[in-house]
Amino acid sequence: MTKPGKMIPPGETIGILGGGQLGRMLAMAAAQLGYRCHVYAPEADSIAAEVSAAFTCAAWDDADAMARFATGCAVVTYEFENVPVAPLAALGTVPLLPGSRALEIAQDRLNEKEFVTALGGVTAPFLPVSTQADLARAVGEIGAPGILKTRRDGYDGKGQWRIMAEADADAVPPIASPLVYEGFVRFAAEFSVILCRAPDGEVRFWDSARNVHESGILATSTVPAGPPVTEQVEAARALARKVADALDYTGVLTLEFFATDDGPVFNEMAPRVHNSGHWTIEGALTSQFENHIRAICGLPLGDPALAARGVEMRNLIGDDAHGWAAILSDPANHLHLYGKAAARPGRKMGHVTRLAL
Ligand code: AMP
Repeated sequence: MTKPGKMIPPGETIGILGGGQLGRMLAMAAAQLGYRCHVYAPEADSIAAEVSAAFTCAAWDDADAMARFATGCAVVTYEFENVPVAPLAALGTVPLLPGSRALEIAQDRLNEKEFVTALGGVTAPFLPVSTQADLARAVGEIGAPGILKTRRDGYDGKGQWRIMAEADADAVPPIASPLVYEGFVRFAAEFSVILCRAPDGEVRFWDSARNVHESGILATSTVPAGPPVTEQVEAARALARKVADALDYTGVLTLEFFATDDGPVFNEMAPRVHNSGHWTIEGALTSQFENHIRAICGLPLGDPALAARGVEMRNLIGDDAHGWAAILSDPANHLHLYGKAAARPGRKMGHVTRLAL
């Protein structure tokens, strides 16, 4: 176990790297506990900055801006796992929680799979692919169907190609970045394990949600997840705890799994609060956002227990958000809109949560 971290009292400033909706909801939870937030993001229109005390709009590799940002922060965290690691040296002595090792692993699908496999986790069969010849070999060895994914910078199903038959390997666009080919998993359900680890090593888990994706994007998260997820949560949690301990992790960590006939198969991890945990804002005694803030500030963790018989969270993607008035006409709906200007197809604009009481 690691030593308890220094407690950061309310009133201090928390730095958040990344300016999207996760940062926005973190900043709102931090404000509830009396903290100020300072957002650092390269995009000028940050929806996290809108609800924060300060905003630095600068490139990730602007060392001067990063150092100035750090001076006013008691602790720095991130809401986005693709923050480049090297520029974070400019944070100097200001603690970065979770640490940069978690970023390095989660930024690269191959590192992530190798790390989790080494800890005893089960993944889909996978092989690295850098050339067309590698791809032919990988498809030959693992078989089809399978999915070719970019190792870095993929999210919400972006940077992925489904290979339904061996011949499809020839139709893939020219390989421009390192990839990984993985076998297609026949799953009964998808679910996530979300935990929060305190600096002293204490770990708390939220109930696992059953996640339904449409076109690679999370559509709904439902708790309780029901069978066959229920029977697989314990093994998945054990793996998630090992990952958190191995990284001496502080804060919220998410692992996504496929529930299969052979048990939980790890898909990917996110070293941060997660879309499949948005239901915890109303549906748990303490939300993922609040516990993340508590953990990185060295405060006691709140109880993550379910606060209702059940909860469903539905994402509002693209034009879905235009239905906000109809959503609000049902008083049981909890509406969250992220304040994004343009509703592009596939863009997460908000979410709706309903509790079964
Ligand atoms: P990812 O970006 O890796 O989370 O993939 C997005 C979604 O695509 C997942 O949540 C699954 O629904 C699906 N998917 C990804 N990888 C696989 C796989 N190896 N087998 C089956 N479905 C997959």
